[in-house]
Amino acid sequence: MSKKPRILVAECMQEISSFNPLQSEYANFHIEHGAQMLVQKGINTGLGGALAVFDEVGFEPVLTISARAGSAGLLSRPGWNRLMGEVMEAIAAEAGSGIDGVYFSMHGAMGADGELDPEGYLLTETRKLVGPDVPIVITLDLHGILTDRMLRQIDGLAIYHTYPHVDFASTGARAARVLHRLVTDKRVRPTIARVTIPALVRGDELITKSGCYGSLIREARR
Ligand SMILES: [Zn+2]
Repeated sequence: MSKKPRILVAECMQEISSFNPLQSEYANFHIEHGAQMLVQKGINTGLGGALAVFDEVGFEPVLTISARAGSAGLLSRPGWNRLMGEVMEAIAAEAGSGIDGVYFSMHGAMGADGELDPEGYLLTETRKLVGPDVPIVITLDLHGILTDRMLRQIDGLAIYHTYPHVDFASTGARAARVLHRLVTDKRVRPTIARVTIPALVRGDELITKSGCYGSLIREARR
């Protein structure tokens, strides 16, 4: 039997508001290393959904680090430096161990003092470590900010389709299925494009069951 494809799994999530005058810190993050991340198995998180699909398709998850924080103000410069160092150290420790794909669970609205695109930074550094041919697929909150720097490094992404968010696991599962196609069928070579729509949506209109955000998502899925 051929060896199972190995998928490097990492997570770094925080949503910040730059209007919050209080900076957040490293201590805001709940960190899990390696096998500790298995506590997310079977629960409604992006990682939980992705791990279930990896099991189903026979992929071996290579668990590195998960760092999650609640919504808060801009991450302080020392906080970001410590967090980024720890995340990249965990990824670097496995990046050379024969990796076939990367799943990175993110929010998309992180921001740090001195680095306003932490996700773009982490993806750029991860790409340097795994090389140009290993597919990287990410998940994001639908309020995440998709920067050019992020788009240049990734091969696929999945975002939540619901607000209030209830579809974390199914979003992780969609990302894992995209990764499965990319890893097992080398003819699949996606092109990523971003279309900006002229909409500024607030409050109730964000609710996907009743608001205009929901109509847009239903329209996009047709
Ligand atoms: Zn959100």
